[in-house]
Amino acid sequence: MPRTAIYPGTFDPISLGHVDVVLRGLKLVDRIVIGVAENIGKGPMFDLQTRLAMVREVFADESRVEAVAFTGLLVDLAHQYQAQAILRGLRAASDFEYEFQMATMNRRLDESIETVFVMAREDYTFVSSRFIREIASMGGDVSSLVPPAVLPHLPNQQG
Ligand code: ADP
Repeated sequence: MPRTAIYPGTFDPISLGHVDVVLRGLKLVDRIVIGVAENIGKGPMFDLQTRLAMVREVFADESRVEAVAFTGLLVDLAHQYQAQAILRGLRAASDFEYEFQMATMNRRLDESIETVFVMAREDYTFVSSRFIREIASMGGDVSSLVPPAVLPHLPNQQG
C-alpha cells in the first residue's frame, strides 16, 4: 500500500515555502494529498476554487501530488485517502503553539494518524501567505516568494 500524507492548509496563496514542504515530504512518503481548506474564518483573499486551481497548476507535472478541497475534519480526509500521516511545516517557534494544539487534537480524534513536521528552508522561514498578500496589495514585488504560476493571480505583479 502506498504511503500517503495529507498536507492541509489554506494556501492563500500557495508560496515557495509550501512547495518546499511538499518536496521534503515526498522524500518520506509515496503520495501527498494537499488538502485546501475552506477556512472562512481566515477571510481568504482567494476563493477556495482559485486556491485549489493554483495548487493544481503548481504541481501539474508531479504525479505523486494531488490537491483536493476540504471543509470537514482533517482526520476524515485522511481516512478518505487512506493516509498514514498529516504533513505540516514549521518556520519559527511562533508556529509551534498552534501546530502543537492541532497535532494533539488530531491525535485525540485518531491515534493512528501521525503528524509529521518538516523544517522550512532557511530562505523561506520568513515567507507567509499573509505577507505575500499584503506586499502584493501594496505594490511590492513577490516574484521570489511564490511559484511562477501564482504570480498572475496576485495584484500589481508583472507576471
Ligand atoms: P494554515 O491556515 O493551516 O496555517 P497555511 O496555508 O498558512 O495554512 O500553512 C499550511 C502549513 O504550511 C502550516 O503547517 C504552515 O506552518 C506551513 N508553512 C507556511 N509557510 C511556510 C514556509 N514558508 N515554510 C515552511 N512551512 C510553511
